[in-house]
Amino acid sequence: MNRCVTYLSACLILLYSCKNRNEKDNSGANSDKDIIFISTSLAFKSNTLISLIRDGKLDKDSSLPKFKDLLNEIKEQYNEQAITRYNSDKWVFPLKDYTTDISIGNSKDEGYIPGRYNFFDGNDHKGHAALDIFITDSNQDCADDRTKKQVDVLSMTGGVVLAAEMNWDTASALRGGKYIWIYDPLNKLLLYYAHNNTVIIKPGQIVKPGEKIATCGRTGLNAFKKRSPTHLHLMILKLDENNYPRPINPYGYLKTAKPI
Ligand SMILES: [Zn+2]
Repeated sequence: MNRCVTYLSACLILLYSCKNRNEKDNSGANSDKDIIFISTSLAFKSNTLISLIRDGKLDKDSSLPKFKDLLNEIKEQYNEQAITRYNSDKWVFPLKDYTTDISIGNSKDEGYIPGRYNFFDGNDHKGHAALDIFITDSNQDCADDRTKKQVDVLSMTGGVVLAAEMNWDTASALRGGKYIWIYDPLNKLLLYYAHNNTVIIKPGQIVKPGEKIATCGRTGLNAFKKRSPTHLHLMILKLDENNYPRPINPYGYLKTAKPI
């Protein structure tokens, strides 16, 4: 029931934001003029499909071809945009004012357990095919102990927001809490940013490296519990030639990403 309510409210928020976007697009006087989106209908289709996979509402045999077609459609629209493309030498560390040295353990494999992870298992996935990037937040109020301010989550790469969950409460079974999926068509990657406190981007939005997409938080089935230090859960999936996503260790990319 709760999942159903969460899903319906996500759809309503997306519809509302899409409606607003269309009104602004048609008015010609739009405060979002610097923000580029793929089409509203494709953004809605994308967010919906990712939610269905997340909730186990599609069997794997039918979700795989739908997912591959979706990525091809998005890539086509992305490539039509006259925007800068960003290779890994332009990528940005995903937490503002942080680096690997102060936010991740010393080992490149610390916490990265791809195991039997499968994207199409959705919320019931196995393993921990990600790295957790910790902020200093001893009282767990989501504010940095050093600055007393929330920590910005930045997009590492360029790409398109495939899906975003804006709502979460402690009764939810969602492990990612308020999450964001970004598709980087140039580098054939999917990036998953989870446990955010607030999400400030919308499905369909095109982002660049260093763009603020969220603030770091404690949302998610386990992340909100006291035993869990405040962190960003970052997962990177590499797409093969058939658009099948498989996890890779983000450590190397994080190590070379530019801190800002
Ligand atoms: Zn994690």
